[in-house]
Amino acid sequence: MKKYNIITYGCQMNEHDSENIAGMLDSMNYIYTDNPLEADLVVMNTCSIREHADKRFFGMLGQFKNIKKNNRDFILCICGCMPQQDRIVEEIKNSFSWVDIIFGTHTIGEFPNLLKKRLETGKKQISIVGDSSKICTFENTRRLFKHKALVNITYGCNNFCTYCIVPYTRGREKSRSLDDVVREIKSLSEDGVIEVTLLGQNVNSFKDINGNDFSDLIREVNKIDRIKRIRFMTSHPKDISDNLIECYRDCEKLCKHIHLPVQSGNNEILRRMNRHYDVDRYKEIILKLRKVCPDIAISTDIIVGFPGESDDEFKDTLDLIKEVQFDSAFTFIYSPRPGTPAADFDNQIPDKIKHERFDRLTEIVNESSLRKNKMLENKIVPVLVDGKSKRNNKMWTGRSEDFKLINFFSKRENLTGEIVPVLIDEAKTFSLDGREDIS
Ligand code: SF4
Repeated sequence: MKKYNIITYGCQMNEHDSENIAGMLDSMNYIYTDNPLEADLVVMNTCSIREHADKRFFGMLGQFKNIKKNNRDFILCICGCMPQQDRIVEEIKNSFSWVDIIFGTHTIGEFPNLLKKRLETGKKQISIVGDSSKICTFENTRRLFKHKALVNITYGCNNFCTYCIVPYTRGREKSRSLDDVVREIKSLSEDGVIEVTLLGQNVNSFKDINGNDFSDLIREVNKIDRIKRIRFMTSHPKDISDNLIECYRDCEKLCKHIHLPVQSGNNEILRRMNRHYDVDRYKEIILKLRKVCPDIAISTDIIVGFPGESDDEFKDTLDLIKEVQFDSAFTFIYSPRPGTPAADFDNQIPDKIKHERFDRLTEIVNESSLRKNKMLENKIVPVLVDGKSKRNNKMWTGRSEDFKLINFFSKRENLTGEIVPVLIDEAKTFSLDGREDIS
């Protein structure tokens, strides 16, 4: 039997695409291996958001040249956001002859046929331009975990933040129908899934053909018996409705956590980022969320060094972090993505300043995370166990409802997929340690 491996970069949308691609390969009788070097077929599922992504990607591509030289039957496939850009496809075609199959984010469903054609003809197969208005769902998915699942509810994005390449690579936003999503989650629950993460670039702008919005969807998923936890990723502040906020009061399965990217604490920067909210509106949302759900955990994304960002404008971001007291934040140094408006803005910030600001930002974010985590010391928190900890295999690891990473000791075995009460002994910046509470 032939073996395959998938290398996944980027966001949870890509992770879920990889699960679907794995499902296709499983049903074609390929066997998964976690070692790409012993695989007969490798899929590289790419991301184009990060700085130097192209360089890293092409470096990795180069490493497969020798494998191909030694094994003419080895198949290398490229998919994800990178091939959505013509210049990348041209470069692969011109300089990386050992790539066999290239497909895009809208043509994932074509992958089995592309593979069959490649095997039959020996010729390179490329299919990037699919029908971006069509929503593809897949029957076979190889989930990373038996007890939890990622479920796409929207695809693409209409927001055109000036720094972001996603609307150009993933296309315009489309929502699945509420009934379709609920049907999928019911079927997952029958297969042992107890936690679902509703996925999209901007989940809270979900609107299906029957007029159902995101809060309607959460309320329906909340009714599914065996589902115990509902999460979503990612939301946009401009689309947070009061109806959604009320779900935190009414839906007991909705986890007490929201990832709400603020990006900057300065209104002028937010305007130039094309974010469609200002700092006061962001703070108003946080107040409302905390009113209906006082212990909600709030995480965010922040970009430093956006073109033209003055020191005072950067300080506004620091002030906002101190005021909101985030539980955690993904912090990014702005890097121009070719093809986005901000890449052509004047006043790009020198690297040295960007890095200095990043260090100051990280320090304040980390202080805030630690302070928040400390509040859980000596408390008992329910943890959905993902498996043994990679850091210490005598410990188990999982997530609390508020998405904290918890490592803990237990005298019991086989805890994966269980919700276990954990007494927190020690809070750190990025995780918490504890032990199973057996009182
Ligand atoms: S909301 Fe903005 S940052 Fe998020 S995917 Fe859409 S364009 Fe990119």
